[in-house]
Parts: sequence; structure tokens; C-alpha cells
Amino acid sequence: MEIESMVANSALVKAREGGGSKGRRCKWREMLRFPHISQCVDLAMNIERDYHSLCVQQPIGKKLFQLFCRSRPDLQNYISLQDALDTFETKSDEERRDFGFSIIQRFLMNQSNQRVSIVLRHEQSCIQSLELNPCGDVFHDCREDLHRYLCGEPFVLYQESMFFDRFLQWKMLERQPISKQTFRQYRLLGKGGFGEVWACQVRATGMMYACKKLEKTHVKRRRGEAMALNEKQILEGLDSRFVVNLAYAYETKHALCMVLTMMSGGDLSFHIYNIGVPGLERGRVRFYAAEVCCGLIHLHQKSILYRDLKPENILLDDHGHIRISDLGLAVRLSEGSLVRGRVGTHGYMAPEVISHDYYGMSADWWGLGCLIYEMTAGKPPFRVRGEHPHPTEMERRIHTEQEVYNDKFYKEVKALCSSLLTKDPQLRLGCQGAKGGEVQSHPFFQQINFRMLEAGLVEPPFKPDPRQVYCSDVQDIEEFSTVKGVVLDDTDSNFYSKFNTGSVPNSWQNEMIEMGCFRELNIFGPVGSRSPDLDW
Ligand code: ADP
Ligand code: MG
Ligand code: MG
Repeated sequence: MEIESMVANSALVKAREGGGSKGRRCKWREMLRFPHISQCVDLAMNIERDYHSLCVQQPIGKKLFQLFCRSRPDLQNYISLQDALDTFETKSDEERRDFGFSIIQRFLMNQSNQRVSIVLRHEQSCIQSLELNPCGDVFHDCREDLHRYLCGEPFVLYQESMFFDRFLQWKMLERQPISKQTFRQYRLLGKGGFGEVWACQVRATGMMYACKKLEKTHVKRRRGEAMALNEKQILEGLDSRFVVNLAYAYETKHALCMVLTMMSGGDLSFHIYNIGVPGLERGRVRFYAAEVCCGLIHLHQKSILYRDLKPENILLDDHGHIRISDLGLAVRLSEGSLVRGRVGTHGYMAPEVISHDYYGMSADWWGLGCLIYEMTAGKPPFRVRGEHPHPTEMERRIHTEQEVYNDKFYKEVKALCSSLLTKDPQLRLGCQGAKGGEVQSHPFFQQINFRMLEAGLVEPPFKPDPRQVYCSDVQDIEEFSTVKGVVLDDTDSNFYSKFNTGSVPNSWQNEMIEMGCFRELNIFGPVGSRSPDLDW
């Protein structure tokens, strides 16, 4: 490895390790100084007063609403119940029964001093469903009632409290303009169609991200405006642990930038081919396949068809969980409709995509079949690795050839692959109307507990080495060429302004909480003191 690469890597590793408070700039408090409340009046007038958005969905909003409720003796039990219900969802299957009963005892029984009157009527039904199936949605009705109650008078009182003022102050910080100066830049991570992807760190908080830059001239030359905007808009509407999150979208003089969840563990193609014998052992295949399956189901629930499933697009984080990335080809379908278009990567496109038919979510289930095949075999289904058959030859094989299963395929994985690689989309697994449920219940996934997987409670089978950098050496990533003779004008600025929307609220608020900034800055009362009755 060359010295330049070593320096770039060690700077990145150090930043990752330092992450958090050590990575913060010493001036961080100044960068996150609350505006005076008088500067928030416009925001207060215009912000949508929607309980669900303000007190449930937005992480800082939720915290402040909880703090408000805790400060009021008449609301404390309600919020303790809500906390307990949230905690219930983080319990393993074995713990759920006992924990569930403790909730019933504390809050749902008449004789308890913490009883919550509005949910008492659910005591018997909750006991029953807990005994029948602790892994089901035991407290569904309680949650609904709690929600109905809190969004009434408590929500009105909250909006008149200092806690809501504080929320507005956080929102003002969230809306600060974002520029190149917001970040510190580390090494180049990879190269895409329109530009480079760099590791970066938010100066104020120390949070690491990957910044995907789209060179303006390249986008224009190749008419990529709609595609870039599509990718950004789809990403900002998603919130899944199995899809990369968008945290910021901003522009510089030369580029449009999407700041994404940092995925330090490399892509699946690296793990399949660059470490020992090509292919992955079965526990890993199953785990990655299950997480991708959850990611696809999440996308499909939002009517988004992904269309570009392949090992290069599945990235690992530092714990070894995967996320689907690169949503440049994804498309939002209107209710029940289909699309047409030969879109995807050669060799991975489904038969119905290649042959100009109309298609829906079936295309992604074919993609999952290709992915599981490739992770198992150490080669893609219809070609030898490194072989680049002519597109028409590739299409012939996909349409007519039966993929070959060697002895690496044991019974269940072979059964799953061949059901997903069914050429007729009507007969393919995943396309029978259960929205992917039938894929999750395939025998191949028998050992996977999808409830726990979706809650992030399953330990990954492989953890990337925190001292290793899982991408090509900097000098091996081809330099991005500049295009000449492209002039940017007003029509371009119009598109840039649609793209350049700054922080994405949920990601930004999670960053503040995760990096400890919320805890350190959200102080009430006399400077430096915390109200003693607030439970942190
Ligand atoms: P394109 O749409 O132009 O293909 P990608 O989104 O696939 O661009 O990004 C190009 C490369 O950058 C990827 O192959 C990967 O190496 C790297 N990369 C992309 N996103 C991330 C991320 N979130 N974390 C780490 N590396 C990333
Ligand atoms: Mg890509
Ligand atoms: Mg792309």
C-alpha cells in the first residue's frame, strides 16, 4: 500500500474511533447555540401542529413531549406507560412474557398506584393475548388509547409550555443552512456514475457520514437531473434500519451532495470475492438475505420498487448489519400500478424487465434470488465471474437457461433460489400478494426471528474489523474526470434549489441525540443547572 493511502486510512480510522465528543470541534457549543425564543415566532406560526409528527415521529419532539409529561404529576404515569411499551418492543422473545406481565401489574390493574385509568379496561384481554402469544402485538389497544388521550389536552398544554419553546429552538438549529463548512472531509470511499463518495464528519457533533457528490456538469451533460432528484426525494421519505438514511442534502459550487449513513464495512461484493474462497458461509447468507428482505418489504410498503439489487449495492456497517444503498434507479409506483423500462444492471435484471413488459415488485424478488445465489455460489447465476457476455446473450440465458446449483447449495437455499428465480413473475415467490411475507416464512429463514431482526436485536454473524478500511486504496479508485463545455444556467438553479433542502429532520435529530449534544445542551432554568425533577 502506498504511503498516501495509509495516511488517508489512518486518519479515517482515527476519526471513526474518536467519533462522538472527541470528534467534535472545540467550538461546538457555539455552532449549536439556541436562538432566542423571539426569533422562533415565524416558525411557531407556520409549523404544522400535528401530534403524530411533533410528539411521536420526530425524535427530539418525542423527547421534549416526554419531558413535559414527566414535569406534570397528572401525566407521569401515562408517559411511564408509554416508555414501558417502547421497552417491551426491545425485549427478546423469552423476556417478553415476564416483562409484559410487569406492565399489566404496574399500569393496568385497579389496585396499582401507577394505574392508568384509560387503559384499565384492557387488563383481561392483554393477559389473554400475552399468554397466548407474547410475541404478538399484545398492547395494541392500550397504545391506541394512550395515543388518543395524549393528543388531546396534554398536547394542547405542551404547546404552551417551555418544552415546546425549546423544541422550536431545536428546529431553528436544524434549519441552519448547510454547506461544505458543516463537514470535515476524510478519504475517498468510492466512485459512482456522477461523482465521488467521501467519508465526512459533522464538525459540530462528530458524527461520521458518507457524502455522495454529484458533479453538476456531469449531471447536466448526461441529463441526470430527474434521476438525482428522484434518488434524493425517495431517500428522504424513508426511515428503515435496512436502507441507508439521508441526513443532509446541500450544494456546493460544483456539486450536489447527499450525506448518507456511513457504511464502513464495505459492500457485499467485497466480502463475497475479496476474502478467501468466493462465497459466504450459510449463516451469513441467511442473515444478509433476511435483512435485505426486510429492506425490500419496507420499500414495497411505501410503493417503491428498488430495481438494482446486486452485491455492490448492499453495504455493511461497523456492527455487521447491512443496508440497501444506491436508490438511483428506484421508482415510486402509484397504487397498484406497474412500470416499464429496461432498468437495472446487466445480468441482474428480471426476465420481465428485459422483455419490455410491464412489471411491479416482482423484479426485486428476482433480484433477491440473484443475490442469494451469488452469496452462496461465489458467482452470479447466469455467467462466470469476470465474464461479460454480450447483452443479447445475457438476455437469452436469463430467458431460457436454467441456473445450475452445485453442491454448495443445500436443500433449503436451493429451494428458495429456484422459487425466486422463477421466470414467470406470476408464479415467482414474493409475488402472490402477501407483500413478501411468504418469502420470510420460507423454510430457509426458519432460524430467523424477523420480529427481533426488525428491532435490530439480532447479533450479526460477522463483525467488520474496526481497524480495517473495507474499500479500494485511494489511488486505485479512478479519478473522476471533469467535463468541459457545459454551462450552468437558471434552469439548473431551479433544479438545484429543489435538491438543496438541508438537514433531514429525523436524521438530524437522531444525530443530536446519538452524539450526546441533546443531553448536554437541553438544559432548562438558570445557566448550567438542570431542573432537579427531570428524569434523564
Ligand atoms: P452510483 O449511484 O453513482 O453508482 P453509489 O451510491 O453506488 O453511486 O456509490 C458509489 C460507491 O461509493 C459505492 O460503490 C461505495 O463504494 C461507496 N459508497 C456509497 N454509499 C456509501 C455509504 N453510505 N457508505 C460508505 N460507502 C459508500
Ligand atoms: Mg452504485
Ligand atoms: Mg446509482
